[in-house]
Parts: sequence; C-alpha cells; structure tokens
Amino acid sequence: MPSLRLDDARARFDLLTLTAYDVTLDLRGEETFPSRTVVDLVSRGGETFLDLKARELRSITLDGEPLPTDAWVAGRYPLALPPGHHRVEVDAVMAFRNDGEGLHRTVDPADGRAYVYQMSFMSAAPSVFACFDQPDLKAPYSLHVTAPVDWTVVANAAGEQVEPGRWEFRETQPLSTYFVTLVGGPYHRVTSEHDGIPLGLLCRDSTARALDADADELFTMTGQCFDEFHRLFAIRYPFDKYDQAFVPDFNALAMENPGCVTFREGLLFTTRVPRAARVQRATTVAHEMAHQWFGNLVSPKWWDDLWLNEAFAEYMGNRVTAEVTEFTEALAWASMTRKNWGLTSDSRPSTHPVAGNGAVDADAALQDFDGISYVKGQSVLTQLADRVGDEVFLAGVRDHFERHRFGNATMQDLFESWERAGAGALDTWIDTWLRTPGIDRIELVRPDGESPGRLLRTSPDGSPSRRTHAFAVARWDNATWQVADVAVDADDVSFEVGPDVPVLLDALGTGWADLTLDEVTASRLPELMARTTDPRLRGTIWTTVRNGVHHARLDPARAVDILVAGLPSEEHDFALSSLGVWAGDDGEGTHNSVHLKLLAVVADAGAARQRLHDAFLVRAASAPAGSELQLAAALGAVTNATEPDSLRALLAEEWLPGLTVDSGLRWQAFKRLASLGATDLDELDKTLAADNDAQTQLAHAWCRARLPDADAKAWAWQRFTGEVAASNYEIGAIGAGMWQTGRDDLLEPYGARYFDELPATTAVREGWLLGDAARFFFPITITTQDTVERTERALADPTLNPTLRRVLVDAGDEVRRRLSTRARYVS
Ligand SMILES: [Zn+2]
Repeated sequence: MPSLRLDDARARFDLLTLTAYDVTLDLRGEETFPSRTVVDLVSRGGETFLDLKARELRSITLDGEPLPTDAWVAGRYPLALPPGHHRVEVDAVMAFRNDGEGLHRTVDPADGRAYVYQMSFMSAAPSVFACFDQPDLKAPYSLHVTAPVDWTVVANAAGEQVEPGRWEFRETQPLSTYFVTLVGGPYHRVTSEHDGIPLGLLCRDSTARALDADADELFTMTGQCFDEFHRLFAIRYPFDKYDQAFVPDFNALAMENPGCVTFREGLLFTTRVPRAARVQRATTVAHEMAHQWFGNLVSPKWWDDLWLNEAFAEYMGNRVTAEVTEFTEALAWASMTRKNWGLTSDSRPSTHPVAGNGAVDADAALQDFDGISYVKGQSVLTQLADRVGDEVFLAGVRDHFERHRFGNATMQDLFESWERAGAGALDTWIDTWLRTPGIDRIELVRPDGESPGRLLRTSPDGSPSRRTHAFAVARWDNATWQVADVAVDADDVSFEVGPDVPVLLDALGTGWADLTLDEVTASRLPELMARTTDPRLRGTIWTTVRNGVHHARLDPARAVDILVAGLPSEEHDFALSSLGVWAGDDGEGTHNSVHLKLLAVVADAGAARQRLHDAFLVRAASAPAGSELQLAAALGAVTNATEPDSLRALLAEEWLPGLTVDSGLRWQAFKRLASLGATDLDELDKTLAADNDAQTQLAHAWCRARLPDADAKAWAWQRFTGEVAASNYEIGAIGAGMWQTGRDDLLEPYGARYFDELPATTAVREGWLLGDAARFFFPITITTQDTVERTERALADPTLNPTLRRVLVDAGDEVRRRLSTRARYVS
C-alpha cells in the first residue's frame, strides 16, 4: 500500500476541516472485527481520499447516499466533496494483527485468554477505523466498543461499561489519528488519583502480581512527574484521566497515546531485575508524560518534526526523573545506556541532519526515527537550554503550548516562541547543529618538542567545522582527576597538557563529539579505574571506550583490559548491565542492535571472555548478597561464561549467597548453555513446561534457534521467510538467537540466502516489523568480504524497499567496521 506523501497530506489539509469521528467496534471475534466509522467534516470543495486498510468494505455512504465499494483500491477510497458539510459513513471488517500495529491481538500462553491493544502510530490507524490519516487533521472522537463480558476496556477518554460487554467513552479532545488507542481484554487494573487526575495501571491478568508489587512506585513517580510538569509548563494536564497499560508484544518502549499510554510489557518486572531496569521504566514514564503536552496537546504538523517530539520528551523525561523522583541517577543512566546508540547512528553512512529532513512520505520519515532523533536531538536541546537559560527555554515552551493548544505546529513555530521569549538569534546554531549532518571528531595531540598540546576538530566531510564545542576535560594530576572547562571553537585549539598525563575529553558527558582515548590515556586507565569514583567520569570512559572500538581506533584487547580493571569497582548496575550486553556476543541483551560487539572483534575471544566473566564474578561476589548490583554483575558473568559447569552450578543455586535463580536468571543461563552447545531441545522443552508464560516462551524460542545444529537453523529460517507465521516478538527472539559468532559452519548457507530471500519478506510483513525482521536476521556474524559485497549488490537494486534499504546500509557498515577492526588489531 502506498505511504502517505507530504504533498497529498498538504492538499487534504487545505481541503478539509474535520468536525468529529464516531467509531463503533465489535471485538468479540478472533480473526476479524466489524468497524463502523462516521466522520463529519467541512469541505472547501475538491477531490481527496479516505484511508481504509480493511479486510472487507461492506458499505460506504456520503451524506446518506451509497457509494460503490469497488472504488476502494490499495487502502484508499476516492471522495469528491463539494463545498460544505458532509458525513461519510463506513462499514468495514478489519483484521486483528500480530505485528504490534493496528489492533494487535494476542493469546496469553499462561491462561489462554486474549488481549488487544491499538497502536495507530505512524500509519496503522486505518487498519482499525476509516480515517483521514495524517497528524494535522485532528478531531474529537466518540468510541463505542462491544467486547467479551469479562473484558476491561480503556481508551483515550474516560469510559464505562453501560451493560455487560458494552463500553461507552466520553468524547475526546481533538486528537491526531496516530495516537488514537484502546486497550481491551481481561486486564488487571489498579486505580488511584493525583491532584484531581484519575490514574490507572493495567497489565494482563497473569502478571497481576508484578503490577501490584510495583503499583506504589509507579503511582508515586507518576504523581511527582505531573506536579513537576505542571510547574514547568504552567498549563494543566489537558486530558481527562491517565491510564498506563503494560501490553503484550509492543514494538517500541512505549507510546504516548493521550490519556492512555501503552508500555512494553518488559517494563513490568515478573522476575528480579537490576535497578537499571527501574530507572529505564521511570524515564519512560516521564518521557511519555512529557509527550502529553509536547506531541499530544501540540502535535507535529508533519513527520519531519518527529525528531523534535522525541528529543523534547527525551530531554524533559530524563531531567524530570532525575530531579523529582527517587531515580536521581537518570541522567547518568541515559548517558551510559543511550549515548552510544546516538553516536553510532551519527557515524553511519545513513546519518542525516537532526532536523529538516524532507520526509516525502510517512515511510521515509520512519527511517529517520533513530538514535539521531532521540539521543542527539536530546543532546542538542540540552545544549540549547544551557545556552539560552532555563527561564527563556521554558517561557518559549509555554508560549508554544498556549499558541497551538490542541492544534499542530512546526519546529519553526517553536523557535519563534523561543526567540520571542528572549533567546536571541538562533539561526547559526540551528544551521550548524540541527541542519548539518554528522558528528565532529575531536582528538588530543600531545606536546612534542617545541609544539604545545592541541585539540583538533574535524568535521565529518573534512571541511572546516563551524560547530563550537564547550565541555569539561579531566586531567589526571596529583592522584586525582582535575576537571576544567574548555571551548573548542576552531579546528586547532592549543591545550595545555603534559606528555604523560591521562586526559578525558568531554569528561562529564554533556557534549556531542566523536572522541577516542589517546594512547597514553588508554594505556594508563587499567591502573586508574579503581581510583576513578565519579560516576560521570566513569560513564565517559565507558562511552569513549565503546566509541573507540566502533571506529577501529582503540584495540579491542585494550578495551578488554580497561573493562576487566574497571568492572570490579563499578558502583552502578546500569553500567554493569550495559557493558555486559556490549561485551557479550550478538543476540545477547534485549535486542540485536548492530552496535559493534567487543567479543566479535577481539583477538583470542575465548580468553577475553574468560577474563570478563571472572571480572563480573568478582563484582558479583563483592556486592551485597541479594542486591540489584549483585544481580547485574551475575548477569554479566552468565553472558560471558565459557564453560557449562559454572552455569550448571548457578542453576543449582551454588554460585553466590543471596543470588536466587528465578526464571529470568534461569533462562539467561540456558541462553549461554545453548550458545555453548551444552543443552538440547528436550531439556529446553522440559524447562519451559515447568514454567510456561510469554517471557519464558520467547527465551525458549531464542535458545532453540541458537542450538548448534542444522535443524535449529532451518526451524528459525522458516519464521524469517514467513513460511511459518511468527509474532513480532518471536521474530526478534528467533533472529537474535540464530546468529552466533564462530558458527559459520552452520550459518554460512543462510548468509547467502538472506540476500536472496529478503526482498520477498515485503509480501508477509510491513511497517515496524518488516525492518525488525530484516535487522534481526541479517547475517551479522558472517564477517566476510562476501557479506559486504552481497549487501552492496542488494543496495544497488533501485526497487529495494526503503525500510530494507536502511537496514542494509547500517548493517553493511557494521560488517565493514568489524572487518577493518579485525584487520587492524587481530593478526
Ligand atoms: Zn517519545
């Protein structure tokens, strides 16, 4: 189906004003659901189209007159609308989906009960109801739902069950189509209230215990964030209640639907988790709440401003979490866990400016929804707030909300608000930071003979950079790090430093530059790590180590030395978790990100893994028994275990006092056992049978795909091609499980088949999952020139789907980097 083009959206906006939507859904079926939509609108006279991605169009009328159903083609219904008021009524049958978009339906393996939720972002709304699907055609919605009698149904506005199985919802404020939602099923719902705002928390019934255990924590921080946003924005929360639902198989971390935020179910903890997971959840709660104003009250006019939506929510979410909740480490957490995502995105061939990406259609915009939009965007907004001062920054934001309340706006509108608030001229700043792609490299040159030390700044294309960098630097002096400010405002800046003094650039992690540890510092760090206690300095070291390996400027063996030296003194479990995933092989961790994995490029990976395992275990042993820190360190040790005996000892709870083995830790151990070829399908099946739920099923699927035999790989591959259906989460788990560094003997045939069979996956998937499947199943561990060449050949096809193209550009870059790192450092 064609993606909505910007010029079509503009024409439709010029033609139409929408007055109201009235949507009636019957969710009692298993495969499909009837969907009836009435749209009232005012036309200025002309032709346009309605979006409808239905299984069947039963009837459509315009002002009561039937229209032919066979005019409906490729998801669009053409309409000729003379000037004046009109009513369009559509009676259709829609399909439930299992890819996390539209109306996603899932059956809980724990009890066989069905759950649905609606994800309309960014162009899935028409697979639930007929609509004019673009962000700037807002309208109020009235929703009526018939559902099984044991269901609870919540939506954007408050609602009630008027008779068994029949739900009526209040008319909403004007909403964009992309965040219209409902959540239905035998959900467990806990309610509360804060400052006059009714609050709800939902999860599926089989995970009720996890929600009840954390409801206080969630309600408390929800209330704290509301108070702070009210104070900062000086405008009340604009919707009538606030539900937060943890829903199955959610693609993103969360979605900011007004009044009814949906979260990835993994943010509800059914097993013990490191504190890092709670910090991530807290920042996500705050991020989605920030969107209630920025994104929902005032929405982007078109998708090219999505970066601003995300950058703003990211900035505000992290800031408010750190300032008013118990999770005061939120900024350090974000820097440690998110920054490398942005730095990596910004160094790919697919890099793009933060702003001003034309986004000719919705699909193109989705390709730029990446680490640049979120993390770099957040970084430059932080820089802007520092530059103009908090008072001006917030005054501009308030002005923006007041002017465009319940409407749409552009980046230009926001910057005009900031200028009105006294920010001064921002043109040069916008031009250099928002409209120029890529990242400046800054490197330290030590004094040599008569020539002093210098900091060299290089722009990504080699032309003189115009970006001014202002950040802290730390020099190791008198047995401690001495921190001072520096401005890099030219391509060559003198910098006072001794020839042997270790130096950390951007020591507090506030800047945005491509940095590498110089040789002197890198060689001294192993002895300095235990004496480096400031978490910001340590975060900078970890970020810079990862960046250096990514760019093949730091020997991966040296990175292992620094990790092994630093892990035993690491006080933050988010650093341990993050480094454990980075050091582990592909497929370990929550998703198969294509960031360079340390053990995929290091010489003698077996010995390096053993050293990392030992270092994590030392940290686990010194952490308080039963603590989150102990758990995070133990997970790092599990991920890097080199022999099955120690994992079997863990499973027998003979590892460490206080370290209880729940299903989370148990399945992490089985993942490693599968990687080592030390378990089999029979044992995996028995383990699953003893504890069968949605989480353990996914872990089982991951392990099954990882087993080192041809049957397992063939089983996985059938899910990739679509020969056997699999949900979005299954695709992720199976793809991540399948590929393993060092198993080319089994995997090599799929390294070629991937490129032959990838284009046809557009027939079985679309949207988010199309890209995810391509990414998870990319032969990332076949690190050969063949893989590079196959990628290039695939990219040379001008008909390649744009979502697949973006995946191949990034993954091909990753393979090339691995090859060059190995060529440089592995003899
Ligand atoms: Zn967001």
